[in-house]
Amino acid sequence: MPLIRYACTHCGTWQPGFAHAPPTGCPTCLDVRNALPRDGWNFQTAGQVSEKLTTRWEQTLPGIWGFACEPTFGLGSTGWLLRRPEGNIAFEGAPWYSKPALEYLEVMGGIRVLSASHPHGFGALWQLQEHFDPLLVLHKDAVPYTKAFQVRWPVDDFHELAPDLTLHCVGGHYEGQTVMYDARTRSLFCGDALKVDLDARGRPTALSCHKGFHYAIPLSHGELRRYRAVFKQLPFENVFTPFEFARGVTREHALALFDRLLEGMPHTRPLSLEELS
Ligand SMILES: [Zn+2]
Repeated sequence: MPLIRYACTHCGTWQPGFAHAPPTGCPTCLDVRNALPRDGWNFQTAGQVSEKLTTRWEQTLPGIWGFACEPTFGLGSTGWLLRRPEGNIAFEGAPWYSKPALEYLEVMGGIRVLSASHPHGFGALWQLQEHFDPLLVLHKDAVPYTKAFQVRWPVDDFHELAPDLTLHCVGGHYEGQTVMYDARTRSLFCGDALKVDLDARGRPTALSCHKGFHYAIPLSHGELRRYRAVFKQLPFENVFTPFEFARGVTREHALALFDRLLEGMPHTRPLSLEELS
């Protein structure tokens, strides 16, 4: 019996399953860090997803493209592509890559290395792996969540993709959650280590962090201290999460947020950037 892949319409997680029977549950929705779908699960095949989603892309910063879907699907992740002379790097995945999107990626030189922060940013990484056969690098503790694709190089807490592009494990929100620092653009691809509130014009207004967003579960002080120790080494001025691009959110903003949460009982409420400046 052939295996195919199914996407959960509620969170966007892809998983392999039997062609004659959709999955009975979604591991991401069953986890405490996501909500359950109120009306039950709806799993769709690649063919069904391709019929309903359009993939769009735009250059966010010079040399960095974001790929996302319309209408929003699942958690609504964005996959980032860094165009680099030694070969392109993709970090996080869009929920779906249409044929034109894959063709555009091909014209841009394909993908040499593929990685991601944690399961909420995985999207359709499997499509990028199938199409471009990149080196798939992921933290060793994130491997249990990768049933839909194949990790080629499980890495430890620090990994250098290039001298100016490094992976740093921060854990906290998810086991093995890893951030990527791009020294060239002073950008931090921070997974869900930070959540950024944006105004109607897309400008960042507030920051928060969480263990679980839907249930408003805060991080422990130990987890916050680990975020702080890693972020302190990375002088960033822009933040890319799997869901937001925030120009002008800096290391100082993030450290101020962690310091505030370390002062007393931690919480998940957003603090305005003014408060954190
Ligand atoms: Zn997450």
